[in-house]
Amino acid sequence: MKTIKLQIKLFFIVVITLGCGLHMSQVNAQSSNPVPVVFDVPFAPIPVKAMDKVNLVYELHITNFSEANLVLTGVEVLADDARTASLASYRDAELNKRLGLINPNPDSKEKNVIGGGKRAMVFLMISTDASNAPTALRHRLFFKPTAADSGDKELTVEGTRVGVQNDKPLVIGSPLRGRWAAGNGLSNDTGHRHAIIPIGGQARIAQRFAADWVKFGDDGHIARGGDLSQNANYYGYGAEALADADGVVVGVKDGIPENVPRTKERAVPITVDTIAGNFVLLDIGRGRFALYAHLQPQSLKVKVGDKIKRGQVLGLVGNSGNSGMPHLHFHITNAASPFAAEGVPYVFNSFLLQGVANTTAERVNGEFRPDPKAESKRQMEMPIQNAVVVFP
Ligand SMILES: [Zn+2]
Repeated sequence: MKTIKLQIKLFFIVVITLGCGLHMSQVNAQSSNPVPVVFDVPFAPIPVKAMDKVNLVYELHITNFSEANLVLTGVEVLADDARTASLASYRDAELNKRLGLINPNPDSKEKNVIGGGKRAMVFLMISTDASNAPTALRHRLFFKPTAADSGDKELTVEGTRVGVQNDKPLVIGSPLRGRWAAGNGLSNDTGHRHAIIPIGGQARIAQRFAADWVKFGDDGHIARGGDLSQNANYYGYGAEALADADGVVVGVKDGIPENVPRTKERAVPITVDTIAGNFVLLDIGRGRFALYAHLQPQSLKVKVGDKIKRGQVLGLVGNSGNSGMPHLHFHITNAASPFAAEGVPYVFNSFLLQGVANTTAERVNGEFRPDPKAESKRQMEMPIQNAVVVFP
């Protein structure tokens, strides 16, 4: 911090010795930028198609290098090309709902106040038509003038060109058969999306594109009968979890007992080692790894080192680890670890989209009634949050 302070002082000395006597607000209007923040995108977005749109899902990290609070008032995302209009612009409530602070501020409850030395993250999901998808992005941030500024103009800082990762979408087969809802799936505001975990010296979001797959029975409910406290009553319980691609098993966990559904209690204390419950981690090539989590204990059909064919049964869907009802947590990462890795997107070869289960009741045990007119066959897409899909 001392070095940084020194550099900031030197900057002012240069301004003064040049004899221009500019007020800070005037300085801001010029290209020099005194806003003491650093922002970067630790993991550049990989485009993923969903509902005919191309989506860029990533996080902008903003670190306040000063001792004083900084108030973030706006974020603009621009394509790094000839376009002048921004791709997205967020202020007020729209900004706040995309913001996360690494540590809350002791002296402010406002989400957009970044304390001295602290870091905020802006969770972004930029959707465009395929023909308009940018290949690189820029960001413009707006801050409330600080007490040291004489003007009332917002401070702006622009920079951080981020190249969109030029990665072909990872095409996979179905991890399940039948009709399932993509709970906590592709969206900008799920628990998965925001689950940043520092492990091994890096803070990463392995679950960025995770979904909690919950099965609907033919009656449109997720469980038979009225008793939601029995795992065996859920249609998904005991379903076969299938290899989404050819691969090699690189990690397994077994022996974690199951939870009673619909309670906050867990059968074991939840740590990074138990959170996924019984799991299989599959190396599917091209530096990609698929996680199948919360499986039934003693249901794993594979062991580390096994070579696996697409469609092969890996284990049975259960309710172990940090899970409140039987479901398959599925995600794909870029390293051989359930959580010490970045979550990367994938698309399914094909699925039938029956609609979106848009109420909690439907997901908890209301009735989902597909509207045949709304059905569509989707190919090479990722299902969005709560999409009800039929896998072949
Ligand atoms: Zn999950």
